Amino acid sequence: LMEVERESGGGVRITSTSTASAPWEDNVDYFIRKKLRVWCKLSSGTWELGTIITTSGKESQVKLASGNDIKVLTTEVLPANPEILEGVDDLIQLSYLNEPSVLSNLQYRYSRDMIYSKAGPVLIAINPFKTVQMHGTNFIQAYRQKLADSPHIYGTADAAYTEMIRDGVNQSIIISGESGAGKTETAKVAMQYLATLGGGGNGIEREVLQTSRILEAFGNAKTTRNDNSSRFSRVVQLASGERSYHVFYQLCAGAPSDLRGKLNIRVANEYNYLNQSNCLVIEGVDDALNFHQLQEALDIVRIGKEDQERMFAVLAAVLWLGNISFQVVGNENHVEVVADEALTTAASLMGCSEQELMLALSTHNIQAGKDSIAKRLTLQQAMDSRDALAKFIYARLFDWLVEQVNKSLEVGKLQIGRSISILDIYGFESFQKNSFEQFCINYANERLQQHFNRHLLKLEQEDYQADGINWTRVDFEDNQGCLNLIEKVPLPALKPLGVLSLLDEESNFPKATDLTFANKLEQYLKSNSCFKGGRGGTFSICHYAGQVLYDTSGFLEKNRDTLHSDSLRLLLSSSCSLLRFFASNMLNQSQKSMGRKDQSAFDSQKQSVGTKFKGQLYKLMQQLENTTPHFIRCIKPNSKQLPGMFETDLVLQQMRCCGVLEVVRIARCGYPNRITHQEFAERYGFLLTEKDVSQDPLSICVAVLQQFNVLPELYQVGYTKLYFRTGQIGTLENTRKRV
Ligand code: ATP
Ligand code: MG
Repeated sequence: LMEVERESGGGVRITSTSTASAPWEDNVDYFIRKKLRVWCKLSSGTWELGTIITTSGKESQVKLASGNDIKVLTTEVLPANPEILEGVDDLIQLSYLNEPSVLSNLQYRYSRDMIYSKAGPVLIAINPFKTVQMHGTNFIQAYRQKLADSPHIYGTADAAYTEMIRDGVNQSIIISGESGAGKTETAKVAMQYLATLGGGGNGIEREVLQTSRILEAFGNAKTTRNDNSSRFSRVVQLASGERSYHVFYQLCAGAPSDLRGKLNIRVANEYNYLNQSNCLVIEGVDDALNFHQLQEALDIVRIGKEDQERMFAVLAAVLWLGNISFQVVGNENHVEVVADEALTTAASLMGCSEQELMLALSTHNIQAGKDSIAKRLTLQQAMDSRDALAKFIYARLFDWLVEQVNKSLEVGKLQIGRSISILDIYGFESFQKNSFEQFCINYANERLQQHFNRHLLKLEQEDYQADGINWTRVDFEDNQGCLNLIEKVPLPALKPLGVLSLLDEESNFPKATDLTFANKLEQYLKSNSCFKGGRGGTFSICHYAGQVLYDTSGFLEKNRDTLHSDSLRLLLSSSCSLLRFFASNMLNQSQKSMGRKDQSAFDSQKQSVGTKFKGQLYKLMQQLENTTPHFIRCIKPNSKQLPGMFETDLVLQQMRCCGVLEVVRIARCGYPNRITHQEFAERYGFLLTEKDVSQDPLSICVAVLQQFNVLPELYQVGYTKLYFRTGQIGTLENTRKRV
């Protein structure tokens, strides 16, 4: 741990507090003499304010604010900030940046509904779990006209906008935090601001904002952590207490009677894909009402009624597909489809005959030379192929919908100019049981954390070092080891081995099971310090945000996600134009990647889900790398989704793992303004009264700095650039403007 202290001269001293001879201990006497406030750690683990009365050896006697005197180890006492610093809006202003100080500052603000704070360049947003009166037109105007400057998403969005215009560079607002921390809500607030700026009253604002309603209906679902969680894939399987995507329940609850009749829609409880988790409703949420609002939103973004109906038919088809069951026939464990209402309805909604659907779900055609042989599937295979088909249809429907919305809003046209991207993904999560979905989600968050580290901790410090300025490095938790574990382990071995590549290897090996996969992981990865093997097919990964125990059961099948060529063929011949479109799109893609024209190309080409995910993530990171990032870190104040409750341990754990405090440490003793010698000389050189200065840029810089008496501790001269502490350039700039 590094502790930064202000010295009398205004300079900053950085010292280490990780050893027994912490500098704070040298200062204890000073705190006693001046009766300064300290934080004292109680045996319960909580911190309380007090003052030190005496100290002897390793022990101190502390008078607590509550009145009690207690004896504690001096190492359990930390300096507190003076009262005047209580509730500062940027942690950078704190004299002492220890954990109790940071926590109490955030808690102070939170209890007064000040949910936004700054941590240097990062905005911290603590989920209020209630409506706070700090959003809307008046606030937006205040931030736009720079009449308000307390930390706010509007401020961050405005900075992105201003920098985009000023520098002509694409910007990004990157929102991170655990599941339920408030990322999606934050993204909406940022969108609201930008839509207002960009809208100019032509209605696009309303349309853009309606897209969230649509995307959330199709992309969000209830989990045990968050009633409106941004999700991965969960069409066919649910854990207890969770729901599938909202839109299914909305359709079941809200479809008007003519649509119900046409699509044979029942209540949610009658569908296997919805009724397996004992959770059909969300407290305080009216699915029927939301269905109407969804329809309204679709109208507003001009998705035609016909398209809407086709979409709902596809959703109904997915639900009925899930109700299709199989019975085992003969003695080889082979199955056939039960001919019941589910089959009839699914077939009619999918625009195919019952016979065709039955065959596609219970057999698999294998190419043997010129002939094709139909092989009957086992029960497990048949269920897997049914579920894969349902997942495929839903995933493509989602992509299609996003495309329609973009087309309608003519998003493509905007790309000619500069852009601000807002990134909101599914947050880090650790449940009692974590499967492949959690693995992917946490992997994505790991990458995002690396981006954060790189921009705010690594590049910043590398810049100082490369330019030769005097800088004491602030250490931070690098998560490359964890990413290596997932993506590859750079062993001297020939093959790069990581969880993903081992998973692909096992997924392609016919005899492999989830257990053999778990054993392989143990065998090859146990030397990575972020990996821990487990019992019964489990393993753990030490993520930046904490250790997560994964259960490998289902990993292989979820990774394969094989859509059989038989299912693809079924969709290609469907009379439903949407399904036909999804399938031909898919086929085109696979033919392109295989360079083959026939349908069998399809079976062998498919990229695994994990590998595809990795590719998408790389692409995303590349896009982000080409923007100026603005970071927002959302914090979940309690795990009960309740207002007014601030669980210090939970907040502390989130603050610790995300690197925000390190960012503050760097920002506080760093030099946020930097300018090349050349630029500085050109900009301020004319102010020199002394004309006898050598004309090289560096000499001009030094002369300007001397003439304006800029204190040596407020700037540093690097090989190529000058580095200034906050505010210094502003002073020079004012003088320049006055001249
Ligand atoms: P996930 O990673 O699971 O998608 P998330 O970080 O996106 O989670 P949100 O869905 O944004 O979390 O927030 C969870 C819930 O917290 C919201 O549904 C809402 O009830 C509440 N919430 C979040 N932010 C705010 C806010 N600014 N004002 C009021 N309530 C909020
Ligand atoms: Mg979300």
